[in-house]
Amino acid sequence: MPHIGTVRTVLDGLFYSGAHRLLAPFVQGIGSFMMLHHVRPAEEKNGFAPNAGLEITPEFLQSVLSHFRDRGIEFVSFAEGIRRTKLGISPASFAVFTLDDGYLDNFEHAWPVFKAFECPFTIFVATDIIDGTSELWWLILERAIASSEGFSTEIEGERFSFQTKSAGQKNQAYQAIYKKVRWGLDEREQRKWIRSFAEYHGIDVNAHCRALAMTWDQVREINEDPLCTIGAHTVHHYAVGRLNEEDAYLEMLLSRGRIAEELGTAPRFFCYPYGDEIAAGARDFALAERAGYEAAVTTRKGMVYAGHGEHLTALPRVSLNGAFQHVRYVDVLMSGLPFMLANRFKAVNAA
Ligand SMILES: [Zn+2]
Repeated sequence: MPHIGTVRTVLDGLFYSGAHRLLAPFVQGIGSFMMLHHVRPAEEKNGFAPNAGLEITPEFLQSVLSHFRDRGIEFVSFAEGIRRTKLGISPASFAVFTLDDGYLDNFEHAWPVFKAFECPFTIFVATDIIDGTSELWWLILERAIASSEGFSTEIEGERFSFQTKSAGQKNQAYQAIYKKVRWGLDEREQRKWIRSFAEYHGIDVNAHCRALAMTWDQVREINEDPLCTIGAHTVHHYAVGRLNEEDAYLEMLLSRGRIAEELGTAPRFFCYPYGDEIAAGARDFALAERAGYEAAVTTRKGMVYAGHGEHLTALPRVSLNGAFQHVRYVDVLMSGLPFMLANRFKAVNAA
């Protein structure tokens, strides 16, 4: 992954050169699906904030919405975004706001902002997270390392020992373990490992999840708002692309069934956990359709183009990344140019 500072420099370069404005008409597509996770006031983390990309402040959300409104970007619901994607045209550039996982801060901090702007939003909930039983392993890992001065652990027979006094050491330990746990262990082993790691560090995994997630009552309450759409995000928040076909399908099907049971209507839309190329591929895009979803979003980066109408279960998104909380970065992203450069000027990437 490129260094954040480098990415900022590139985005700044594009912004100040005006290249994104010149090329925007050719590369910006018909609209975008925006991706958010946590929305909450900033906390002082003393240089160790490995998940900072996954959270923005309510003020930043506000400034993005007002900037979009000024630029004439239309806020539409997920269903309307899909309708326009199918048509392949949109009277004005549209933005669909999506929030992944089902965090309580969406209810407390994001909802009021969306209401103030009459901006529709979609929350993709993993049913285990709402049940308060999900490991949320990347956050547990951060929490354990944040309060530790050093530890030793074993992952699949490999021993890791870290000094974790300084922020630099903590970051190093986090990255090393994250990589191993995310890619080296299978999805179920990963959860077993994080539970024993949490226990060793005196963290109650379920209490941690319960404190961060909405309850089903809150999901029902926010779902009463006509601005809100609830979508599915699997049961266990597994990378479906790393599961066998049957298990991947069940994650999609059972989460859909469970949400239908809790809310009275089946969700129409799905979102792949992690959502990158390894976490969700062509097989999974077909499975999502088979599980009854009309459309699904990935974390592949990009704007929506007319060609996406043929790939409704493989839609890209634009991340409102906490490491880039300035509207000028969002402006450059929304031109579509950085994604086009990254995708070598291929509009649709659904393989
Ligand atoms: Zn997620």
